[in-house]
Amino acid sequence: MNGIKKVSVIGAGTMGNGIAHVFAMNGFETVLIDISQDALNRALATITKNLERMVAKGTITEEAKANTLKRLSLNTSLNACSDSDLVVEAATENVDIKLKIFKQLDELCKPETILASNTSSISITKIGAATKRAYKVIGMHFMNPVPVMKLVEVIKGYATSAEVMQTVMDTSKVLGKIPVEVNDYPGFVANKILMPMINEAIYTLYEGVAGVEEIDTVMKLGMAHPMGPLQLADFIGLDVCLAIMRVLHDGFGNPKYAPCPLLVNMVTAGYLGVKTGEGFYKHEAGSKELKVSARFK
Ligand code: NAD
Repeated sequence: MNGIKKVSVIGAGTMGNGIAHVFAMNGFETVLIDISQDALNRALATITKNLERMVAKGTITEEAKANTLKRLSLNTSLNACSDSDLVVEAATENVDIKLKIFKQLDELCKPETILASNTSSISITKIGAATKRAYKVIGMHFMNPVPVMKLVEVIKGYATSAEVMQTVMDTSKVLGKIPVEVNDYPGFVANKILMPMINEAIYTLYEGVAGVEEIDTVMKLGMAHPMGPLQLADFIGLDVCLAIMRVLHDGFGNPKYAPCPLLVNMVTAGYLGVKTGEGFYKHEAGSKELKVSARFK
């Protein structure tokens, strides 16, 4: 496995549980670390449920499920990653939190350890510069839901070495993923393209060109997108979309990335999409029906 045997995943939220799932399932000794024991308990329940679903579908055997869970351990202390060959950080998208974690990791981990971040938008070069091993710091951007989505965007920070890039590309393939190498500029590739599209869909609504359902239907049926951009924005979280637009706007200094005032208003008012129950659509727990929010009717 290219020298990578033991892996730590930091942050057991939406992404961290999926990342730990795929590493443990593919033979890596995996430690999942979070400051919150509740988050760890929820993550283990989610991983177990997802593995059971895979057994029921015949994707994996009962034995593979048991071995995956055997390879996975939980911990609330960052010290647990000191002997890992690779650390994948998937903690909250906040630059101060990430810089602090990477400074600690740099002190705790053995010199050979590769330090990766699953950040959606924060500069890998900046994260690397917070350590004394910037050449070993890299972006490993998984997509949600991790066990299902094939892509890993592998981001080369300004100082990341070619050898570290190769190791992470190879390791991603062991996970059954398709890694794509990209350079470290705001939004990388995925969000540099996706977020302006979502922002433009919000502008299209704001300017009264069409309604929520109409915009999403045009993009679903016309462009063969599995989900319309406004529905996708609700799933990602409108606060996350706004934060990424601000990274693009600040990073490129180009007015074309200015977030739509409607997006800013919705985030300020706390209409964040699925996580708060309402965004462009109304999301009721347990309901699969897609209902446009009364605000847009
Ligand atoms: P989340 O809020 O679901 O989970 C974050 C977890 O990090 C929480 O459980 C929190 O307790 C934990 N945490 C916070 N500070 C910590 C610390 N100091 N040490 C250990 N754990 C800590 O967030 P998420 O959606 O899983 O996102 C995690 C990362 O993945 C972010 O960088 C985000 O940009 C990126 N990402 C998210 C998505 C997505 O669709 N949600 C997709 C790709 C990448």
